[in-house]
Amino acid sequence: MLLGTIADDYTGATDLANMLVRGGMRTVQLLGVPRESAPDADAVVVALKSRTIAPHDAVAQSLAALEWLRKAQARQLFFKYCSTFDSTERGNIGPVADALMSALGTDFTIACPAFPENGRTIFRGHLFVGDVLLSESGMKDHPLTPMTDANLVRVLQRQTARRVGLVRHDTVAAGDAAIRARFDALREEGTGIAIVDAVSDADLHAIGAACADLPLVTGGSGVAIGLPDNFRERGLLGAPERAAELPAVAGRAAVLSGSCSAATNGQVAEWLKSRPGFQIDPLRLAEGEPVAVHAIQWAEKRLPREPVLIYATAGPAQVKAAQARLGVERAGLLVETCIAEVARELVALGVRRLVVAGGETSGAVVQALGVTGLRIGPQIDPGVPWTMSLGEPPLLLALKSGNFGAPDFFPRALETVS
Ligand code: ADP
Repeated sequence: MLLGTIADDYTGATDLANMLVRGGMRTVQLLGVPRESAPDADAVVVALKSRTIAPHDAVAQSLAALEWLRKAQARQLFFKYCSTFDSTERGNIGPVADALMSALGTDFTIACPAFPENGRTIFRGHLFVGDVLLSESGMKDHPLTPMTDANLVRVLQRQTARRVGLVRHDTVAAGDAAIRARFDALREEGTGIAIVDAVSDADLHAIGAACADLPLVTGGSGVAIGLPDNFRERGLLGAPERAAELPAVAGRAAVLSGSCSAATNGQVAEWLKSRPGFQIDPLRLAEGEPVAVHAIQWAEKRLPREPVLIYATAGPAQVKAAQARLGVERAGLLVETCIAEVARELVALGVRRLVVAGGETSGAVVQALGVTGLRIGPQIDPGVPWTMSLGEPPLLLALKSGNFGAPDFFPRALETVS
């Protein structure tokens, strides 16, 4: 394993995994602190949900992940957090970075959440979201991690006893040798963690090159753009175009949709124009009807011939009506539980290629199927790759959060792996 990474939330982990595959690293994402033996991969992303939990808990989970990654002999460690530096006054970016540094016995690392492709840039230590400072962006009103200070040196200094410093953009623009020299100078004057300016992908590549010998790098998925080249230059990485290859998986195909976003409603409508679908109605679930059983009986007849769609997706009026009757949470839970049961039964019927629409819905399905890890494959649409589950039986899963994908996403996704 070349790069061992720890991500502080699930979707952020997927984002990073995608970035590493784009950089030519064969990447596996593991859900939670891993217990299994290390998979064959260039990079492993351990996905935690540690962003807003108590700092001591976040530290404990991160250290457990680190221990596993070190046993798997990862050459370099990467701690991934959000590109808007989502954290509270107490952490968890500072406490986790501190603990990882101590465990690795290193006295210097960087903190760089920049992701210019997504409008996150850092200049003179200040984080911009699009054209405004972080503290003027929507993040100032975030319910869990309100970001009211755009000066990252100050923000991070409140979370750590180590001295926080800055590598300014003029140094970054001068290239990786200049950045490395600045790292040495900062380290000499006692700085433990350096915020690094970055406004372009070229900056991220230079920063990545300068970090080649750091035991630990911390940042958003943007800074991971520059890391694969370090391994490639040392002859440790294979051909980049093979990184996204997944083995062929024979079996039946289905789509499960629990997202009610505009994009997903469009995708469901497009599918139903020419293909079979079964609708799950939360009101029937609430009445105790065995909807999952009916869905499976319906699917069993069709699956030998063609892929099926089973969906709870509905327009805003229908969703509101169900929520008014059942409550938002109960409606959601009824649907998620039903879709999870359907997923298990579909796999029992030989389904091996499964597209799932909806973030929460995907979480429920993955949990119901007992999936603990995903090998990242080729991209279907931006931000949505095919993945293959570790363990038996291997399943091809495309997990799409609500608003992603073009109208023909479902059939196109299935065609790319048929
Ligand atoms: P997205 O990624 O679009 O946010 P999620 O799966 O995360 O999709 O969330 C959608 C939520 O809406 C889930 O909790 C799901 O169970 C719920 N849901 C799905 N269909 C309906 C419906 N017809 N009425 C009410 N709630 C629904």
